[in-house]
Amino acid sequence: ATPAATMVGTTIGAQHGVLFKGGDILERAKDVDTVVFDKTGTLTRGEMELTDVVAFDGETTTDGGETVPDGGALAEDDATATDDAPTADDAPTADDAPTADETDGSATREDEVLRLAASAERGSEHPLARAIVDGAEERGLDLSDPESFENVPGHGVRATVEGDEVLVGNRKLLRDAGVDPSPAAETMERLEREGKTAMLVARVRAGADGGELLGVVADADTVKPSAKEAVSQLRERGVDVMMITGDNERTARAVAEQVGIDPENVRAGVLPEDKSDAVESIQSDGSRAMMVGDGVNDAPALAVAYVGTAIGSGTDVAIEAADVTLMRDDPLDVVKAIRVSDATLQKIK
Ligand code: ADP
Ligand code: MG
Repeated sequence: ATPAATMVGTTIGAQHGVLFKGGDILERAKDVDTVVFDKTGTLTRGEMELTDVVAFDGETTTDGGETVPDGGALAEDDATATDDAPTADDAPTADDAPTADETDGSATREDEVLRLAASAERGSEHPLARAIVDGAEERGLDLSDPESFENVPGHGVRATVEGDEVLVGNRKLLRDAGVDPSPAAETMERLEREGKTAMLVARVRAGADGGELLGVVADADTVKPSAKEAVSQLRERGVDVMMITGDNERTARAVAEQVGIDPENVRAGVLPEDKSDAVESIQSDGSRAMMVGDGVNDAPALAVAYVGTAIGSGTDVAIEAADVTLMRDDPLDVVKAIRVSDATLQKIK
């Protein structure tokens, strides 16, 4: 493009909150043939809310993974625990927060699971963690400060709460700590099919051999209103639309379905440090990918993409790594970025 056309394009972009880092980026955007969206905070609002708390009977699992009956609970009781689990309908939500009356008196086993999980998550800045802490506080639970805290990126947290180690996170986090997550399988799958992020809660008592699976907590996020329209407009242009996330396959697919992304275009369970490799592998066949993300996690992936795009209230790190910054939190601006590039280059033909 001529310098004049580039200037016009850059200005038009800026008027729409689409900032190109330079004239070459403006020219490149029209050639994007694949858009890879990060899930959380990009296609979804990234504002998690606690939706479910499920408590299990106190089975103790050992390192070997076998279930040791505790207090008479046999392996068969797992099914009962799952059946008894609260459904989405009676799950606590912000709109449906228990009143003081309901929380008064005897603390339920669910409350205890939530209280320990939230105490452990106090040390974390993760949106999943904040929703758990907020949910616990809304229910009036008394949280303790963790005596120690370790963030395990892409997996969860390990903290010391009231002298015991408390784990909150995915299946791998528990397995690595020698706690068998399988008794929670049905509950986890049910919540994940609902598009929720389900997290296991376990406790390893000081000096004890193995740990106990206490329950499951789940957070849900909502899809941004224009996400579906953005995906559909990109596909109309012949652009392949993909999604990448650290979240599990089932949750990822449920969200993908809501926005119209094909299940085979979903890359789930991608660790933060592996996101850039995933983008490189997508581009290995010569695809020119625009990676769209909002988080610190996404910066390396933004850097390797043909065009890296930071969206909305993106972190400074993401904005720094990006070629394009979308000032608003609107996935439709991804389409706008490509259109401005198109229009700019067409004017000079
Ligand atoms: P995303 O790519 O969607 O932003 P992350 O890579 O941060 O997700 O996390 C991947 C998974 O690790 C989450 O879906 C969750 O199961 C688990 N996880 C991460 N952080 C936490 C946390 N603070 N508490 C519980 N689970 C967590
Ligand atoms: Mg993210």
